[in-house]
Amino acid sequence: MKLRTSISEAVYTHFDDVFGDQLQIDVPVDRYTSARVGGMADMFLTVNTGQQLQAAVEMAYEKRIPYFILGGGSNILVADGGIKGLVIMNRARNVRFKHIGSRVICIAESGANLSSLARQCIAKWLGGLEWAIGVPGTVGGAVVGNSGAHGGDMSQTLRAATIWEPGRGVRVYTNDDMKYAYRSSVLKQEHGRAISRRVVISAELELKPEPVEVLMARADGFTAHRKQTQPGGATIGSMFKNPENYYAGYLIEAAGLKGYRVGNVHISEKHANFFVNDGEASAEEIRALLAEAWNSVREQFGVEMDLEVELVGVWDFDQ
Ligand SMILES: Cc1cc2nc3c(=O)[nH]c(=O)nc-3n(C[C@H](O)[C@H](O)[C@H](O)COP(=O)(O)OP(=O)(O)OC[C@H]3O[C@@H](n4cnc5c(N)ncnc54)[C@H](O)[C@@H]3O)c2cc1C
Repeated sequence: MKLRTSISEAVYTHFDDVFGDQLQIDVPVDRYTSARVGGMADMFLTVNTGQQLQAAVEMAYEKRIPYFILGGGSNILVADGGIKGLVIMNRARNVRFKHIGSRVICIAESGANLSSLARQCIAKWLGGLEWAIGVPGTVGGAVVGNSGAHGGDMSQTLRAATIWEPGRGVRVYTNDDMKYAYRSSVLKQEHGRAISRRVVISAELELKPEPVEVLMARADGFTAHRKQTQPGGATIGSMFKNPENYYAGYLIEAAGLKGYRVGNVHISEKHANFFVNDGEASAEEIRALLAEAWNSVREQFGVEMDLEVELVGVWDFDQ
């Protein structure tokens, strides 16, 4: 076994002793991201329970190796240079429901698929998560990014989250503690920190009983709207946040960039805030297209857009 990086054999052996076959080295990350780009992860660990997730981050923190939690990979652009340290792919998916009087709380481990969970709630005649139908990724990614659609978002659904804090252990965060704002939270502010990011272990979501026909009709409407307005294929969803009083997609379109291409990636004709990988795109091409869109919008309209997607890993400009 030869490691690509600074991770010592002793550290690898330590993880290997605890996690065995769940641990791999030099794993291409592209297959685990919705954009289908990105280089290798030095160490790649799949965890299947909340306890394993916690044990893995505790071990990484203790050994001072950088760690990155990979949910559905649908809000990240992973560099062609890959990710240094440990990538933890979160497949902790246990879900249970608790009745408190007329209210129902869903307790979901953070690796649960958000859209499937929304469907599961509808099947149980429980409303509150329909907005999440068709939002790719995990509960953890949505809790961190305050994901939302169709007027709903995580800030309106989350009651509390169980969060592991580096060096302090597990704490329960209330909705207020999350400091939610548009596509942002207290955890999202930790972008770029590779050694000491907080980790969502599970989330409590507040639901309320509603007739299943009403929920189904709402979900079908949302799905139809998504189909009509968003392109298929390999994308990361919205690349930029909507600036105040504008839609990022409208600004990019008005800058004349619909269909604009860099190498193997182009700006969708259907929705200009979506960039589509034609099959062989590199992360660097997507980043170059991001820069082009940002610059054009600033030059033409004086608006500086913020990224919605997170740039992850080792970029040429970092070196
Ligand atoms: C086709 C398409 C449509 C989309 N539509 C929408 C939409 O309508 N609304 C919307 O808001 N978003 C949308 N997105 C973006 C994306 O689906 C959401 O942001 C999603 O919630 C990201 O979840 P994820 O599990 O994929 O996170 P990832 O991309 O895997 O990770 C995102 C960040 O969260 C961190 N993270 C993930 N899990 C944890 C955890 N357990 N603890 C701590 N940190 C964690 C990661 O380390 C990373 O920093 C869309 C994306 C695509 C591709």
